[in-house]
Amino acid sequence: MNVVDLIRKKRDGKILEKNEIEFLISGYTKNEIPDYQFSSFLMAAYLKGLDPKETSYLTNAMLYSGKVLNLNSISGVKIDKHSTGGVGDKTSLIIAPIVASTGVRVPMISGSGLGHTGGTLDKLESIPGFRTNISINEYKKILKKCGAVLIGQTKDIAPADKLIYALRYVTATVESIPLITASIMSKKLAEGIDGLVLDVKTGNGAFMKNEKDATKLANSLISTAKAFNKKVIAFITDMNQPLGNYISNWLEVYESILILKGDKKNDLYDLCIKLAGAMIFLGGKSKSIEDGVTIAQEQIKNGNAFEKFLEIVQAQGGDITYINNPEKYPEPSYKKIIKSPINGYLKSVQTFELGMAAVELGAGRLKKDDKIDSTAGIIFNYKIGDKIKEGDVIAEIFSNDKRSILNVEKRFNKLVEFSKNRVNPPKLIKQIIKQGE
Ligand code: URA
Repeated sequence: MNVVDLIRKKRDGKILEKNEIEFLISGYTKNEIPDYQFSSFLMAAYLKGLDPKETSYLTNAMLYSGKVLNLNSISGVKIDKHSTGGVGDKTSLIIAPIVASTGVRVPMISGSGLGHTGGTLDKLESIPGFRTNISINEYKKILKKCGAVLIGQTKDIAPADKLIYALRYVTATVESIPLITASIMSKKLAEGIDGLVLDVKTGNGAFMKNEKDATKLANSLISTAKAFNKKVIAFITDMNQPLGNYISNWLEVYESILILKGDKKNDLYDLCIKLAGAMIFLGGKSKSIEDGVTIAQEQIKNGNAFEKFLEIVQAQGGDITYINNPEKYPEPSYKKIIKSPINGYLKSVQTFELGMAAVELGAGRLKKDDKIDSTAGIIFNYKIGDKIKEGDVIAEIFSNDKRSILNVEKRFNKLVEFSKNRVNPPKLIKQIIKQGE
């Protein structure tokens, strides 16, 4: 087989065979195909697309570039959730304990944040002592004992994705539905799951800016999951404003504690119980998503979900005194309050820029090895459509860096827009797509 012939074949819009895709992935992973040739293949795939069969061949080749975990020794149905990412999206921290407390197993391999979206790993690592870098053996032990485990991607899990993602990032080939599908699914399938709930975000803080593209991505992910005999449900949800009210690491852990204890009911709570309900349903512990939602609500009310969270944190080395008494967490050196300049309604939020403001405060990364300040972040008090009076506190911003906090304070008014007239809030859950629909 010849790399140039395969690039030409895709360039001309032809369909690649399974062995041809395997040849390309294995050659690139083994460093036998150079970046310039693989970049050409990626651009051809970006421009000409990959059909569902090619997408599942690509997923398969990337999946088997590393280890595929076998969780057969652990009883129970294993269900994970994957979100395509956004601002304030801390659902994994809340859903994993809710679902695990019902007897469904939740093995989660998550990523770090890069750019405007925060990463589950950074949020968890803001809990003193919490370890996400653990061996596969320990991963299995914790999953068996607690019913849930949340770790980072090891070097053995889909190594081809790591290499290819880095190349896509610098060759303008990230925003391709088949390439995103293979990237996400190769990592998720390696976890050893039986089923998956997908939360595909759409809006100005998401990868997919409009619902049409989000639906296309959801359908592509569903058809690939089906090709691997996995049960799957996809949600299309709104990301035109932050999810919940707290943005960035420790602040997001804090909001998760409030939700798990039943002390806060907002859009974040509504989405978490829906996603958890779908996972409980796929895990065979309810007759429908709706019944699963009722069970999820009950697990919060009766304290089981919060107890499970403490158990998981402790099993992964976290200091649960911070979870039981979050007020003992250190405070950052600087805090500023942003007030509303007018009487009116919140009309829109520049969600991507708000995420980038959190990064500037020290809460995220622009480069892979940037350090994170776990106390930095933003509390954003309002939702689109809310009535606001002049002088109301719209947001509080936190940082240990004086210059950054002054910069963000100065431009904060450009991140939000107000209206004198009533504004309709966006619909949080836009669609639920079940397998076979
Ligand atoms: N998330 C991933 O894991 N991969 C992509 O390609 C895009 C988002």
